Parts: sequence; C-alpha cells; structure tokens
Amino acid sequence: MLEVLRNFTLAESPSTEKAAADRCAEIIAAEWRKRGVEASLILQKSRGNHIRIVRKPSGTNSKRQLLVLGHYDTVYSTGTLQKMPFRVSGGKAYGPGVFDMKAGIVQSLFALDILQETNTPIHKQIVFLWTSDEEIGSESSRKLLEAEARRSDAVFVLEPSLGPKGLLKTARKGVGEAELIVHGKASHAGLAPEDGVNAVHELALQIARMRAWNDPRRGVTVNADVIQGGTRVNVIAERSRALIDLRALRIADMRAVERKLQALKPLLPGAKLELKGGFNRAPMERTISAVLFARAKKLASGMEIQLDDGTAGGGSDGNLTAALGIPTLDGLGAVGDAAHSVHEHIFIKKMPERAAVLAALLANS
Ligand SMILES: [Zn+2]
Repeated sequence: MLEVLRNFTLAESPSTEKAAADRCAEIIAAEWRKRGVEASLILQKSRGNHIRIVRKPSGTNSKRQLLVLGHYDTVYSTGTLQKMPFRVSGGKAYGPGVFDMKAGIVQSLFALDILQETNTPIHKQIVFLWTSDEEIGSESSRKLLEAEARRSDAVFVLEPSLGPKGLLKTARKGVGEAELIVHGKASHAGLAPEDGVNAVHELALQIARMRAWNDPRRGVTVNADVIQGGTRVNVIAERSRALIDLRALRIADMRAVERKLQALKPLLPGAKLELKGGFNRAPMERTISAVLFARAKKLASGMEIQLDDGTAGGGSDGNLTAALGIPTLDGLGAVGDAAHSVHEHIFIKKMPERAAVLAALLANS
C-alpha cells in the first residue's frame, strides 16, 4: 500500500495544473487496470481528466450500483515535493496530498483486491470515481458525480477521516461564499462630503448586521474575511466589497441565511448593494448517512475495529451527493492529520484496516 501511495504522491496533481494532473490520472488508472477492471479517463479541457473505474457485479446482470467517490487533485503546486518530500517516519507517511486524499484512493484499490482475492461475491456494480477539481469547487466534475450518484444505492466518500481516532463524517456543514459589493458616490472629503455616499461606511454597517446572524451553537457561521474599498484618504469611498464565508449545519438554516442575504437593503441614502454567490454545497445532514454508518460500525466491530462518527465543518463532494437524497457516508479515507499543510500525514497501520472496512461495506450494501 505504501509503495502505491508513494507512486501516487510523487505524481504531483494540483487542481490548477492540467498537464501534471493528467499524468497522475494515468498512473492511478494504470494501477486499477492491473486489477483487470475497466478504468476510463473522462477527458477535460482545462482541468485534469476524471477517472471512472467500473467493477462489474459477479455472475449477475444487476443494474444496481454503488459509488466510491473521491478526488486525486491536491492543493499543492508542482514542485512542493522538493520542500515536502514523500517520507515515512514513526509509523506515519508524509507528503503533499497523502491524507487529502491519495491514501483514500490507495485504500479503495486494496479494498477491491480484498474482494477479488477472497472471491467475495459482488452483488452490485461498483463505480470508483476519482475527480480532479474537488479542491477548487468541483466545477468540471459536479454534473458527472451527481449523475453517477443518482444511479447509485449508496455513495462512499474516501475523504480523510476526522481526528486521530479516524471518525467517519456523518454530517458536514454546507459551505458558501458570497460577495457583497457596495456602490457609493465619490466626493471630496473636505470640500463636499455631503455630496458623497461612503461605500466603506455602508459596508461596515452591513457587516455588523451580518455578524449578528452567527449562531455557532446551531452551526451557523457568517464571516466577512476579505474586505476592500476606497481609493484615497481624502476621497469619500465610491466602492467597497467583502467576501463572506457562509456555513450551516442544517438545510433550513442555509436557506434562512440565503434569504437574509437576498433581503439586505442599503442603510445609507444613495448607496446600492450588489450580491454575488451564496451556498455552493448544501449541508450533509446526519439522517442521510445514518443507515450506512450503522452498517459500517457493525461490520467494523465484527473485525474488532472500533468506528465512531463526527461532524465536519468543511464541505466535500459528499455534500453534493447527499443533497440529491442518496445515502452518503463520508470520511472513509485515511486516518491522519494536517491536511493542506506542510505536516500532512497519515497513520500507516490504519490503511489496511480502512481498506477492510470499505471492502466489507461494498460486499454488504
Ligand atoms: Zn479532499
């Protein structure tokens, strides 16, 4: 498993560098083809090619399907390996994207090995879909993964697990990004302040208003994290803008935040507001993963593996499949820590365990 993980990691695959990502996709697809399964590349113009692998059911023509979902893109640009090499130390494997989520792909590959080598009957077609742009919002893969999910009885997402105990993610916050632009009117701050409409003041008032929507106990957060505005200190600011991070744990709360955003009205006479964006991934509510999690927990305990679950503050493609009403279980991937940072790593001895849990789920779903 480590050898394969090393090969996948050495093929750097940033979401925004197509040529590099395509090379990684080839290496991943080749590894699956060695297992005698059909692995096709779904060609993309500007993003890396997506990989679709199909394992036909054994001895049946069942059209039922299970989807194993993940992404092979990482947040690290080409060349990161030089300062962050793939290395193994103290039971951990380090390197760009090992935790998020190349080890998850490796575990899935070995889950398939487990099923094939033990001649376990596979009742449903299994589709493994590895996409190239999850880290930048899944624009080129969204339709594809949604279509695949609609044909599936269940979706297993190989995103990293939560915390050192490897909790599965049975709920995820919905995530969005809004941009609020204020149009004011410029004027000399000394000679004719009354002729101006201060876009920075208006934005400050709007941000104070949005701040009151935060309700951390319900999992609702609204954060203006980037602001810009104005030109010179003696010119009444004509324009300002804020980028706002939006999160909610419940679909109803997401809708409420969206309604409030849409209903924002200018507070200063003459100011105009323009709103762009909003939620792009709806919350994955716990109800959508409950049955699959119970099954995973039971199967794992039969192998003397303890599995627990938790809530993730970030979104993944699991949010998209859950939003379609398809039972989705996320966080089945690697156990480790420090995703998107120079210390990113996985716990090596957990890899076979996690592969075994996935194999059991695929054979029993
Ligand atoms: Zn990820």
